[in-house]
Amino acid sequence: MIDRIHDELEQIRAAGLWRSLRRIEGAVDTWVTVDGTRALLLCSNNYLGLANHPALAEAAARAAREYGVGAGASRLVSGSLPLHAELEARLAAFKGTEAALLFPTGYHANIGAITALVGRGDAIFSDALNHASIIDGCRLAGAAVHVYPHRDTVALARALASTDARRRLIVTDSIFSMDGDHAPLREICALAETHDAMVMVDEAHATGVFGATGAGLVEALGLHGRVTVQMGTLGKALGCAGAFVAARRDVVDVLVNRARSFIYTTALAPPLVAAAAALDVVAREPERRTRLLRRSADLRARLTALGLRVPSGEGPIVPVIVGDSEEAMRWSRTLLEHGVFVQAIRPPTVPRGTARLRVTVMATHDDADLAHAAKAFAALRPVADAL
Ligand SMILES: *Cc1c(COP(=O)(O)O)cnc(C)c1O
Repeated sequence: MIDRIHDELEQIRAAGLWRSLRRIEGAVDTWVTVDGTRALLLCSNNYLGLANHPALAEAAARAAREYGVGAGASRLVSGSLPLHAELEARLAAFKGTEAALLFPTGYHANIGAITALVGRGDAIFSDALNHASIIDGCRLAGAAVHVYPHRDTVALARALASTDARRRLIVTDSIFSMDGDHAPLREICALAETHDAMVMVDEAHATGVFGATGAGLVEALGLHGRVTVQMGTLGKALGCAGAFVAARRDVVDVLVNRARSFIYTTALAPPLVAAAAALDVVAREPERRTRLLRRSADLRARLTALGLRVPSGEGPIVPVIVGDSEEAMRWSRTLLEHGVFVQAIRPPTVPRGTARLRVTVMATHDDADLAHAAKAFAALRPVADAL
């Protein structure tokens, strides 16, 4: 038995896919200490730089003193506090829906929402590059899963027409987590209306980043009322942890009654609920969003100018495609030697042969930081030219 585990670990190592944890010291700021080396952080999802914001830390500390650190139970048992309901009302207003429901993480929110909305005899239509939590939700649901090629609405239309399943759910990331590109949400909503399907949009990387008030891509494209389920997380741009689903009241009622990852788990901890005061910062300081998008465009241009393979896009996720997994690890190590921390992303997180450096920008990076990043990436050029 143990031998088999050893064999499996050896295979992972031999394929260049070994994963291990790095030690990051200090607060999650623009510069961190990684395994003892001081480096510019270019791989967090803390896009607005809020994870160590003093006002949020203070709100969390106050809530811990007043309500304690843990909710003590599932919301349906004894864990539902006024704080939860207040934040849900706020999130519903932010997303322009009747209601919202908190989950402990985005992973819980996705598997909970998908499995609550569709089951045996139903059909799910899922973009090939959707996040792992969506893939797992699809597997758990027991519905027929139609995976359509990335952003391919022609294939999606064909798949929708091919089924007479009772309930149909189209599910997509709005901003794809490893590529940073946008889902064709307008076309998807139109197809859903033609084929009587529900639409679920995962705004993990768009919440706090896109849209006039930072509500996400649904807001940016004016698709309010046409998306059945908007999932968002509090752990990325909002700098906290936790997630939510915003939808019509009846959809939220279905989740309260059927989403097992909501029913059978301890409620989001009071300090985290209080730290969602990050929404105040998003509302009050729109310049964080504009600065983030400007800096992202700036870094994308700098990396492209170096001759690196950077797919076109807009927003803080700037992938640098390497191809080979071990090569991607070498690039990551070279960058750390030059004071830049970027993780290599390898299969199965991304398709085979597309290992990459997933570079992410923060609103709190300044010009000197981006110049430092460009200089470090320039040190990769001899490596890149040799490919
Ligand atoms: C990070 C992420 C999730 C999961 O959110 P957590 O709150 O970190 O569990 C879901 N969907 C996408 C697209 C993500 O990038």
